[in-house]
Amino acid sequence: MTHRIAVLAGDGIGTEVMPEGVRALEAAAGRFGIDLDLTAFGFASCDYYLEHGQMLPDDWHETLAAFDAIFYGAIGWPDKVPDHISLWGSLLKFRREFDQYVNLRPCRLLPGIQSPLAGRAPGDIDFYVVRENTEGEYSSVGGTMFEGTEREVVIQETVMTRTGVDRVLKYAFDLAATRPRKKLTSATKSNGIAITMPWWDTRVAAMAEHYPEVEVDKFHIDILTANFVLHPDWFDVVVASNLFGDILSDLGPACTGTIGVAPSANINPEGRFPSLFEPVHGSAPDIAGRGIANPIGQIWSGAMMLEHLGHAEAGAAILAAIEAVLAEGDPSLLTPDLGGRGTTTGLGQAIAERIADDG
Ligand code: ATP
Ligand code: MG
Repeated sequence: MTHRIAVLAGDGIGTEVMPEGVRALEAAAGRFGIDLDLTAFGFASCDYYLEHGQMLPDDWHETLAAFDAIFYGAIGWPDKVPDHISLWGSLLKFRREFDQYVNLRPCRLLPGIQSPLAGRAPGDIDFYVVRENTEGEYSSVGGTMFEGTEREVVIQETVMTRTGVDRVLKYAFDLAATRPRKKLTSATKSNGIAITMPWWDTRVAAMAEHYPEVEVDKFHIDILTANFVLHPDWFDVVVASNLFGDILSDLGPACTGTIGVAPSANINPEGRFPSLFEPVHGSAPDIAGRGIANPIGQIWSGAMMLEHLGHAEAGAAILAAIEAVLAEGDPSLLTPDLGGRGTTTGLGQAIAERIADDG
């Protein structure tokens, strides 16, 4: 079976780390006999926008819907195109129109990387944040009354639907059930947000009944953020609404060191539409063009993509190769953000060789 992958490198270091992501994918495909058909597109970049006046071609939906997954670099070049145009004109459109309702971010401390949390070693931090990606607090329901007067009132509603919440909870419970610890933590605030969050808690409890093997706990978002920092070893799978998940999915990877290594996935679990895999970092204009961007976030995102496409072993082999190269700690290979003097290409090649070798 051929997996068709759309490759969108985007802007800045996106165009530098993407070739290394592809190199790793090809190494894994070769070793595990996976048939990948990669097609690169120039749209969804600021250069495309400057030429065409829009981020995407008119037929982007049917073009991309024909693919099994989207491998995405980084978008944005604020000096050329304002971020609200580049982001809303590409990534956020994909999330919404391809119903990628799960945002998944692994938070895992890799060997050779210093956690900003004192005394933490690999093994102490290894969990996933599952963020609801389409509804919740980020609604456009609301408005302003008595605008510009002393009586000004601003309202923005949180919209949660049973379908929308249950489907992301189901994804999170399914994920927890596949993990050795089988533990799920719900992010709530039912002591302060009196309508939506108590209801969220009842949906979690209802879903938990279908998963007797999964241990469930919950924390209010305020103490949960503290516990990410104080006790990251408590967590296995953390599920959260859109806003809470947004916060946690930045905090979690921050606890695991450099932003250059963190991957993410925007998933349409039913596979009706392609899911999208991208590094957490942006286009990093400050280091773009120098060949020193860390390619690991892109490579690890590729590992998540293979796992999503049913090749868990190949995904695990990519992660093992990343860990092996990091553990060796050769400063001539590690990029500057990892404390070395290596290059994007050098590190990408070393990881790809490792993937191909370890048969
Ligand atoms: P976004 O585009 O998501 O808003 P941002 O502009 O806030 O992101 P990034 O582009 O991710 O931020 O860059 C933040 C900082 O991290 C910059 O100093 C950048 O150089 C650094 N950085 C980002 N990605 C990498 C990478 N892959 N390797 C090394 N450094 C990186
Ligand atoms: Mg940016």
